[in-house]
Amino acid sequence: MQNQNDQSRMDKIVSLAKRRGFIFQSSEIYGGLNGFWDYGPLGVALKRNLKDAWWHDMVSGHDELATLAGAPAPYEMTGLDCTIIMHPQVWKCSGHFDLFHDWMIDCRESKRRYRYDHLHGRWAAHRGKKVFVTTDASGDEAAPETVARAQKFFGLRAKQIDEIEWGGGLESLQQAIAAGAATLADTLGPDATAPGTLTEPREFNLMFETRIGALAGDDDDRAFLRPETAQGIFVNFKNVLDTSRVRVPFGIAQVGKSFRNEITPRNFTFRSREFEQMEIEFFCPPAASAEWYRYWRDRRWRWYLDLGLTEGKLQLREHAADELSHYSVGTADIEYAFPFLGPGEFGELEGIAHRGDFDLRSHMEGKLVRQDGALVLETGADGKPRHKGSGKDLSYFDDITRERYVPHVIEPSAGADRATLAFLCDAYHEDEVPDEDGKPRSRTVMKLHPRLAPVKAAILPLVKKDGMPEVAIELYRKLKPHMACQYDEKGSVGRRYARQDEAGTPWCLTIDGQTLTDRTITLRDRDSLVQERLPLDEVVDMLRDRLR
Ligand code: ATP
Repeated sequence: MQNQNDQSRMDKIVSLAKRRGFIFQSSEIYGGLNGFWDYGPLGVALKRNLKDAWWHDMVSGHDELATLAGAPAPYEMTGLDCTIIMHPQVWKCSGHFDLFHDWMIDCRESKRRYRYDHLHGRWAAHRGKKVFVTTDASGDEAAPETVARAQKFFGLRAKQIDEIEWGGGLESLQQAIAAGAATLADTLGPDATAPGTLTEPREFNLMFETRIGALAGDDDDRAFLRPETAQGIFVNFKNVLDTSRVRVPFGIAQVGKSFRNEITPRNFTFRSREFEQMEIEFFCPPAASAEWYRYWRDRRWRWYLDLGLTEGKLQLREHAADELSHYSVGTADIEYAFPFLGPGEFGELEGIAHRGDFDLRSHMEGKLVRQDGALVLETGADGKPRHKGSGKDLSYFDDITRERYVPHVIEPSAGADRATLAFLCDAYHEDEVPDEDGKPRSRTVMKLHPRLAPVKAAILPLVKKDGMPEVAIELYRKLKPHMACQYDEKGSVGRRYARQDEAGTPWCLTIDGQTLTDRTITLRDRDSLVQERLPLDEVVDMLRDRLR
C-alpha cells in the first residue's frame, strides 16, 4: 500500500507544477482532456533541456573515435526526424496492427470503461450475501475504497462496518477470474450498484486511427498515429546507410511525439495519450550484440545518475525469460520509485531491449511470428504472408570482413515526459532557511541539475536605486547569450530567492552597495545556501564553466 506522505508529496508536486507553470492540463478552460498535458513556461524549458541533454550526450557530443568505457568498439551516432503518420503497412509488418492492445472491460450500468489489469477486488460477505467488490483505485486508496463500496452495497451504517466478513486481501480481478476464484456474475464493478454488470474483457488496439485525404472512406485510407518513434528509424535504415558514411556498428536517434490511446491514463503525465519519446536504434554485428546490449543498458543507467536522479530511487530490472517479447533476446527497464506508487513499487522510465534482427527482417519479409524458437513469416490459410514486407534488401555488407548479415538491434527507448516527471519528483524538497532577519523560514526548493534547470541564474539588484539596477542589467545582458537567466528587481531579496528556489534556479547573483565600490557580487548557491563574493567581470566565465 502507498505511503500517505508520498501521496501528499505527489499532490504538492502536482500543485507546484501548476502554480509555477511547469505543467497544465490540456484544454483546461474547457474542463481538460484526460491523458493530455501542456508544458508551461518553466516546463517547456525543463523538458527541452532534458531532450537537449539526451541528444548532446548520445548523439551530437558523442566521440566516435574513442572506445567508450564498457563499449566493445568505437561507434558512430546519427539522427532522424520522421513523420508521425507513416504507411499503414509499417504497423502491419511491425506487429502493432495485430498485437498492440490492452484488455478492457466495460460496465453496462455506469457506462465506464476500465483496463482489465487495473481492477482489484476482494470478497465481502454480510448476512449470507456475498460479492466480489472491485475498485480501479491504486496505491493506498484501493483498500479503503472497497470497504466504502461494500458498506454501501450492503446498506450498512459506518458503525456496522465491522460486521462485514472479508475473504482475504485485495487481488487482481484478472488473476482471480483466471484462477476461478471469482466470476464476473459475482463481481461488483468499481462504479456499479449491483453485481454482474461488467462485460467480458475485450481487446482494444492502442493506436489512434485517422483517415488520409478529403474523400477518405474506404479501408485503404486508414492510417495511424505512430505509437513509437522506432519504426521510422527501421524503415529509413537503408536510406541512412546509402547517404551517410556510417558503418555498422552505429546508432540512429530520434526524439518525437508518440500517441497511444491508453484506456485509463493516470498518475499525472506518467501514462498520457500523447507523449514524447527519445529512442535509439543501435545496429551491430550479431556476434557482438550481447556485449552491445550490456553496454547500452549500463550507459543509459549512468545517464540518469549523472543528471542527478537519486540512486536509491532508481532500479535497473532485467526482465525474466517469460516477460520477454517473442522477438527479444534480453530486456532491462530503468525504473523510478515515483511518489504515487506504493513502497517497493517502481515505474518504467526507459526500456533497453535486445531485439535481434526482428525489425529489419519484418520490414523485408513481412510480419514475423515465433515458431519452435525461430522467427518465421506469418502466413494465412491460403499460405500467403499475413502482412507482406517491403521486399527491399535491408542486409549489410561489411567490406572489411567481407560478410553480409542483417544487423542486430539494441533499442534504448526512453520517455521524455516520464523522465521530466521523475526529475521533477526527485528535485522537490522542503527545508528551512534563515530569512533576512535570521529567523527560520520554510521553503520549497526544486533541486534540479543545473543542465536541466529552466533558468540557470537570477540577477537581483538589492534595491531599485543607487545605480544597482544599471549594473545588474549590464550583467544580465552579458550572461544572457550564454544561458537562460532572469533579471528580477521586484519585492524583497528573500521573496525573490524564494521564487527562484521554486523554479529550480541554481544561482542567484546579487548586486549590492559593495558592488558599486569594488565590482564584486554575491553568488548564492540554491542547495548549499553558501554565499560567495565573486568579481563581477569574471562571473560569466565562471558560470559557463560550472554549467559545463
Ligand atoms: P508501460 O508498460 O508503462 O505502458 P511500455 O513498456 O509500453 O510502458 P515502451 O513501449 O517500452 O513502454 O515505450 C518506451 C518508453 O516510452 C517508456 O519507457 C516510457 O518512458 C514511454 N511511454 C510509453 N508509454 C507512455 C505513456 N502512455 N505516457 C508517457 N510515456 C510513455
